[in-house]
Amino acid sequence: MNGYGDPLEILHRVFGHTGFRGEQETVVQHAVGGGSGLILMPTGGGKSLCFQIPALCRPGLGVVVSPLIALMEDQVAALRQQDVPAAALHSELPPDEARAVWRDLNNGTLKLLYVSPERLTAEGTLARLDEMEIALFAIDEAHCVSQWGHHFRPEYRALPILAQRFPRVPRLALTATADPRTVQDIQRQLGLEDCPVFRSSFDRPNIMISAQPREQERAQLRRFIKGAADGTGAGLIYCGTRRKAEQTADWLRQDGLDGLVFHAGMDPLAKREAHKRFAGGDPVVMAATIAFGMGIDRPDVRFVAHTDLPKSPESWYQEIGRAGRDGLPAQALLLYGAGDIALARHRIQESGASDEQKRVERQRLEAMVGIAEASTCRRQILLRCFGEEAPEPCGACDICLTPPKLFDGTVAAQKLLSAVLRTGRRFGLGHVVDVLQGKTTEKVAQFGHDQLPTFGVGRDLPEAAWRGVARQLVAQGALDVAVENHGELVPTDAARPILKGEQSVMLREELVTVPARGSLRTRGNIEAPSDPRFAALREWRKRTALAQGVPAYVIFQDRTLAEIATEQPETLESLSTIPGVGNTKLERYGQDVLRVLREFA
Ligand code: ADP
Ligand code: ZN
Repeated sequence: MNGYGDPLEILHRVFGHTGFRGEQETVVQHAVGGGSGLILMPTGGGKSLCFQIPALCRPGLGVVVSPLIALMEDQVAALRQQDVPAAALHSELPPDEARAVWRDLNNGTLKLLYVSPERLTAEGTLARLDEMEIALFAIDEAHCVSQWGHHFRPEYRALPILAQRFPRVPRLALTATADPRTVQDIQRQLGLEDCPVFRSSFDRPNIMISAQPREQERAQLRRFIKGAADGTGAGLIYCGTRRKAEQTADWLRQDGLDGLVFHAGMDPLAKREAHKRFAGGDPVVMAATIAFGMGIDRPDVRFVAHTDLPKSPESWYQEIGRAGRDGLPAQALLLYGAGDIALARHRIQESGASDEQKRVERQRLEAMVGIAEASTCRRQILLRCFGEEAPEPCGACDICLTPPKLFDGTVAAQKLLSAVLRTGRRFGLGHVVDVLQGKTTEKVAQFGHDQLPTFGVGRDLPEAAWRGVARQLVAQGALDVAVENHGELVPTDAARPILKGEQSVMLREELVTVPARGSLRTRGNIEAPSDPRFAALREWRKRTALAQGVPAYVIFQDRTLAEIATEQPETLESLSTIPGVGNTKLERYGQDVLRVLREFA
C-alpha cells in the first residue's frame, strides 16, 4: 500500500492484534495516504493505533503531542516493549536522558517522539524538526486546545503553529470529547476545517452503567464493589473533594482492600508512587479526585464509581470510560444527592465566568442531572448527549435491567412543598420529613410544628421515599437547596403550579434497597481467579514489570495471559497465535512464558 509499510502487517507483527477495530482502519488508511483529520473515539476506543501505525508506515518521524508526562511515559514504555524506537521529551526529563533523546533524533533512529506542547513549540525544537522528515503530527487529547473543554491547557494554544509551519505534514487530532462546540474549536485551532472527521460510536457496551441516590454511601459502594470486582482488576472511586478521597481510601483499607489515594494536593513523589501502584497490575482500588485522569491506561479497570455528581456527561463518560478498556465486562455506578445538584447549580451561578460560559455549563449540568434522574434507558440518554441516537434500549443499564415504576406523585409533591412553606422555608430536609411523618422530635416541639396541618400527613411513605420526592423535585427545578446556608429547602416559582394543582408531577418509585451490611473485611470476599496458571503468569509478569520499571500491562495484558493459561501452548509457534503476542514479545518473553507453563506439566 502506497509503497510504505503495510498497516495490517504491522498490526499483526508489531502489536499482535488480529484485526482493526471500528474506525481504526479507515483512519489509518487516510493518514498513511498523507491525510489530516479529527478522530473522535470514546476512551478505550483505540485511538493510539490510529497514529502509531501510520507513523510506522510512513517515512520519517511521528511526533505525538501529549499533555501529560505519565501518559507519554506509559505509551513509550509500551512501544519499546514492541521494539518500536520511541522516546518522550518533556520538562521532567533528567538532562542526560534529554541529551540521549536529542542524539537519537539527530541520528534519525527514532520513529515516534512524544513531546509536551511547550517543548514542541519551543523554537529550538521547531528548528530541528524543520530539517527532518516528519511522518505526521498527532495531537492527543486534542480537546485540551479548547477553552470549552473541561481540560483546557494554555500550552495547547501555541499549536496552531504546526499548520502554519508544516503545512504539508498530516495532522491528526484525537479526542474523546465529542461535544459540538469543542469539536469546532479543535478544528479551528488546528486548521482542520476542511479535513474529514472520523467519528466512532461512543457506545461502550461492555460497561454496565447505573446510578443511585446516595443513601448510605459506604454500604452502597461496598455492595457495588462486591458485585464488580474480579479479584485481579482494579477499581476507581471518584470523590468530589480531596478529603473525601482520603477518607474513602482509609475505609477501603480498613475493609481489607488495597485502597490507594490520589489528588492534586499530594506531593509529587506520593502522586507518582500512587500512579505506579495503580499501573502495577495488583487488584487495587483507587479513591481519587478527577485529578487522577489522563494517563490511566490500565486495561483491566473493572469498576468506576462516583460518589458525587460530575459536572457534565462528557466528564462522567470520560471517567467511566477508563473501565473495561480490555473489552471485558465492567461496571459504573453514580451516586448523587439533591444537595449535589443544588450545589453545582449554585457554583455555576456564582462563578466569575461570562454569561455565555455559564449558560453552557448550566446546560451540561442539566444534561447530567437528566442522566442521573433518568426513567428510560440511561445509555440512550447518555449517547444522545454526544449526538448519537441508539435505536433500542441498551439492556445493560440499571434502568433496562430493573425498570423503575413511575407514579403520579402530585399529592406527595404538594405535601412536601407545603410542609416546606408552612415551616417557613427555614429548615433542611431532615426536619421537614420529621414533620411529614409526624415525629415529635425536640426541634418539632420547640417550633410547635406538631400544630401544623401538614404534621403527620406523610406517614404513608417511608423516610427514604420522601428524600426521593425532594431530590426529584430539585432535579425538576421546583425546589432549591440553599447550599450557602444550612441546606434549607426553598420552593421555586415552578412549585406554584404544582401546589395549585395545575400541574402534575410524575415521580420514580425509589429502587434503593437497603444495602448489604458488613464490610469487605477479608480479601477472600472478592474471589481471585482460581486458575493457577493464570495466577502464576501474573506473578511472573509482576516480577518482570518491576525489574524493568514499566507498568505490568505493557508486558502482556490480562486478556492475553488468560488466553495463554487456557490454551497452554507448548511451543513458541503456538504461543505466537495468541492475540496480544507480537513478534517482539514472543522473542523477549516466549521462553519465559513456556517455562512458567511447564512448571505445571
Ligand atoms: P484510547 O487512547 O482511545 O483510550 P487505547 O489506544 O489506549 O485507547 O486502546 C485501548 C485498548 O484497546 C488498549 O488496551 C489497546 O491495546 C486495545 N486495542 C486497540 N486497538 C485494538 C485492536 N485493533 N485490537 C485489539 N485491541 C486493541
Ligand atoms: Zn439501558
